[in-house]
Amino acid sequence: MAVFPIGIPVNPFRKFGCFLTFRTEVVMASTGNIRSLCSHEVIGFDMDHTLVRYKLPAIRTLVQKCLSTSLIESNKAPSSILDDARALDFLVMKGVVCDKRRGNLLKLSADSNIIMAYHGSRSLSESEITTEYGSGVRIDCVKADLCAGQRSEHYFFFDNYFDSPAIPILAALIDWTDAKLEHKWEPGAKERDYSDIWTPLIEAFNTTFRCGAFKEGTGGFFPTLQKDPEPYVRQVTPGARRWLAELRRQGSQLFVLTSSHSDFAHFLLDYSYGPSWREDFAVVGVNARKPGFFAEPPSSRPFFSLNDHFEKVECSVSDLKQNMVFAQGNCAGLNEFFARLTGKESPKVAYFGDSIRSDVLCLNKGNWDPVAIVEELFVESPSNIPPRVHVSNSVQNGNGCSSPPLAKRAKMEEKSINGTDVDADFDTLRSSAWGSFFAHDGGADTLCANMLQERAYACVPCLPEVAASHENSSSGEHTG
Ligand SMILES: [Mg+2]
Repeated sequence: MAVFPIGIPVNPFRKFGCFLTFRTEVVMASTGNIRSLCSHEVIGFDMDHTLVRYKLPAIRTLVQKCLSTSLIESNKAPSSILDDARALDFLVMKGVVCDKRRGNLLKLSADSNIIMAYHGSRSLSESEITTEYGSGVRIDCVKADLCAGQRSEHYFFFDNYFDSPAIPILAALIDWTDAKLEHKWEPGAKERDYSDIWTPLIEAFNTTFRCGAFKEGTGGFFPTLQKDPEPYVRQVTPGARRWLAELRRQGSQLFVLTSSHSDFAHFLLDYSYGPSWREDFAVVGVNARKPGFFAEPPSSRPFFSLNDHFEKVECSVSDLKQNMVFAQGNCAGLNEFFARLTGKESPKVAYFGDSIRSDVLCLNKGNWDPVAIVEELFVESPSNIPPRVHVSNSVQNGNGCSSPPLAKRAKMEEKSINGTDVDADFDTLRSSAWGSFFAHDGGADTLCANMLQERAYACVPCLPEVAASHENSSSGEHTG
């Protein structure tokens, strides 16, 4: 049975502390608890931004370029939209919520209060937020819909590094729309509904990422990566590869579950891990359509077998077998397969993924333990953790949060394998507009922090650092 180098916090309200069990002095204090508590027979991985890491500044620019091109070609944006958006890049942050009707971008607190807001590129003061929304208003439906695995009708939660690059494009479109108004927009003005900006932006996403675009070479995103993935995609580190092999050696069954389509998933994993990557995983699921994979009734989510990446034949759970690549499906059915695979009635399943919406919040429906990949942990530590777990050479970043360094081994491997310094990504992970991902003014938790605290089994910045921590704790070394 695998020893899983992720800490379960003794106190369930200190889940972020479990990430810091990877680091320096805390590793020494809690390794025993980690080893005795964290055993999973089955361990799964999302692909994008989890198994496969992207070079964030480059991927942001590429997504913005693709979306802008689509909007311009459909006459839904001015030709200056990309330059306009790039000037607003400081607005990008995961966890930002768009109020589609009012054209506002919101940062929500743990109890769903609005703690910051922008209308397009204009920052709203506290009094302007009150004028716009009323006093103490709570946008409860955002969290409720996320936890139910469904989209909110009037709000959009920017969840990942593929959709959050659209935030400055959206802000620029709102500014562009306002510039055409006869009267200047003011807080509390309810005469205009901005929802019609949203539809072309969603269409631009569909053009860029739709099924078939990889094979056809359309939409800009896939053809660019197909031509030369190196500027955009990181290759796996030897440490991460060794860690996967170690998990298998200790008896865990590993699997991949991604919402990406089969052709793109194979292309990306071939590039990042080399063609032998399939040997690491007992089963691979593509086009999983998360979070519906977890949240929707199994009867509405059949499995499909694949023929040359094409989803051809619906198959039953009993058809699932080792070394298979399947498409779509549902969590209950996959759990049945895992029981067969392990010979255990209810094997423990952990799942690594970066999307709060798709990889964390709904996994309780399948009784999986979600391990959240939160790259923001590279640049800040949550403020609600006790001082003793802060590493000694942390740097205060002005948000009341400290900046822990990467584990040295993981960082050196990233540099040598990928030819770029991971520090280059750090600016992409910080937003000068919104401040901390986890907190507001170094104090109250954000909605994202709250959801991770409530639902994530653990939070880690990336797999290479988990691997480095595992090797450090195994060898008795302690970096810092
Ligand atoms: Mg992902």
